[in-house]
Amino acid sequence: MSAKTFDAIVVGTGAGGSTAMKILCEAGLQVCAVNSGPRIDPDKDYRGHRQVYDLKFRGYGDPLRLQGKAHQEPYSVEESEYSEGRDLFEHDVAYSNGPGTDWYWKRCKATGGKANFWGRSSARFGDIDFKAADLDGFGENWPVDYQEISPWFSKAERYMGVASTVQNRPSNPDGEYLPPFPFRCIDHIIQKGAEKIGVPYLPDRCAQLTVAHNGHPACHYCGNCSRGCDVESFFSPTWFTIPQAEATKNLTLLTNALVRSVVVDENGLARGVAYVDRTSGREVEVYAKVVVLAASCVETAHIMLNSKSRHWPAGIANSSGELGKNLCEHLYGNPGYGCLPQLLGQPPQPDNIADSTIAWMPRWQNLKNPREEKFIRGYSVYMGGGSGGFPGYYGQLEGFGSKFKRDIKRYYPATIGGLIQAPTLPSPTNYVDIDPEKKDIFGIPQLRFHFRWGANELLMWEHSKQVMIDLFKSMGGELWGADDEPNRPGTSLHETGVCRFGNDPKKFVTNKWAQTHDVPNLYICDASIFPSCTDKTTTMPIVAFTMRTCDYMLDNFKRGVHTRA
Ligand SMILES: Cc1cc2nc3c(=O)[nH]c(=O)nc-3n(C[C@H](O)[C@H](O)[C@H](O)COP(=O)(O)OP(=O)(O)OC[C@H]3O[C@@H](n4cnc5c(N)ncnc54)[C@H](O)[C@@H]3O)c2cc1C
Ligand code: SF4
Repeated sequence: MSAKTFDAIVVGTGAGGSTAMKILCEAGLQVCAVNSGPRIDPDKDYRGHRQVYDLKFRGYGDPLRLQGKAHQEPYSVEESEYSEGRDLFEHDVAYSNGPGTDWYWKRCKATGGKANFWGRSSARFGDIDFKAADLDGFGENWPVDYQEISPWFSKAERYMGVASTVQNRPSNPDGEYLPPFPFRCIDHIIQKGAEKIGVPYLPDRCAQLTVAHNGHPACHYCGNCSRGCDVESFFSPTWFTIPQAEATKNLTLLTNALVRSVVVDENGLARGVAYVDRTSGREVEVYAKVVVLAASCVETAHIMLNSKSRHWPAGIANSSGELGKNLCEHLYGNPGYGCLPQLLGQPPQPDNIADSTIAWMPRWQNLKNPREEKFIRGYSVYMGGGSGGFPGYYGQLEGFGSKFKRDIKRYYPATIGGLIQAPTLPSPTNYVDIDPEKKDIFGIPQLRFHFRWGANELLMWEHSKQVMIDLFKSMGGELWGADDEPNRPGTSLHETGVCRFGNDPKKFVTNKWAQTHDVPNLYICDASIFPSCTDKTTTMPIVAFTMRTCDYMLDNFKRGVHTRA
């Protein structure tokens, strides 16, 4: 048992947790941050600037590396031979899927979390999202509106550095931007084709530094971002928030400390957290006046559901019974891929300039009338392709041997493909709970997922395939195909819901400040509070809402609602 009581405990050091740590430490609070995995060391753990032929397993990693692990499924994209080595990804905390569910739960347990390797798309949410229920009659509005949140988006953008342009689109409020990325060859062609079919194709909002910003150098366009940036040119907790929190000397950072539950006092208020020290296997408790959960959406719900006590028999702060409910996610999938014959034979261009979302098709459906389409709300699409570092289209070509190699070279600068980002609607059948039968190797009851795609997002998926047919035709492209099915749920890593915020304590887990209705000294700083999913990604909003929550919390310290340790 640890004797010291901190002013605040923050669980998780990702985009949400590390932002909270930084703000609270800078305000003079003594903060204990608890992180389930090791401290990341970019010098050792990022191995971006290597060619696949220099890697023993050609980038795919040792096929036996997960032998003996509780959860043996490797995670795509971010977990590869480039980030293999120390144990950065979670394979010890197993989870289950309910009947008919195939959730793919990818977790980076190192400090900084998933934003070490994220895609950096960073659009603002708007009233079209916050008041969607008013517009189309489905679900719940958010307890905030754009006017209230916009200054926090500005604050987050100014801190993180987001490159884009002012676009005046109703579904995408403009923000405060660094200069945009230059378009690639493919973008110019796609933009012209998209214009002809009435679809916008514009610079994405990307948290990547096109100019030096906040002490970090401008990006040099090496295209290795998903393997971690070794010059710190995009927003990541590893070189933004965590070192700034540490510089205050008010931070105690516990690593390899897996939180199992929130500990409560005799009144049912949060007293601290209980964690498993993964190096010794011991269970330890640490105490604070305020507890902030930022373990990343569903893991925050997992900790809360496992925090059962006399006061909270169904999990802490769950008098509403809403904890774990309304899990939402982005439906991802490739609705159309092929090539642009006009680029065949052209010299390669540095098209992987940012290994990311240079441009996208921001939501263009249901803008004038919320029911223009067969589905409600709307989706966005990212387009990738061109001369990337790796010919990702290899799976779309047939054959083998020298002909296959010739084809790979032939199509090199010319292939393109889409990625739909379609929000699911909150549904009573999509939720997480605790598996009554299974525990992980630490003895912690496992989280169980119940999730299926709904009719609305599947209509968007079909719609996007038709858009790709029209787009390829309008830009003179060759459409080779589309994914048969969307990706597995969980792939996008943009899950929301499960601890939704709202004004009514009977229907929502937290109030509009992300302070739980039932336990005033328990706050949440991740996407679990977002009551519905939008066509935009979640990380910049996580940072913005965390800034706002911490501001409110610090005010509560000043007003005596919370006392210092
Ligand atoms: C390849 C990739 C591309 C992406 N692209 C985008 C994009 O373009 N735009 C976008 O907005 N988002 C994107 N994301 C998602 C984005 O990374 C996440 O939204 C964001 O990082 C979530 O931050 P978080 O702090 O909520 O969670 P995380 O980053 O998951 O951090 C959670 C932290 O909590 C710790 N933790 C978890 N459980 C426990 C526990 N029980 N006890 C103690 N500590 C715990 C973990 O160690 C981790 O440090 C992408 C992610 C990946 C991997
Ligand atoms: S492209 Fe830019 S942000 Fe990405 S890894 Fe290279 S330098 Fe870093």
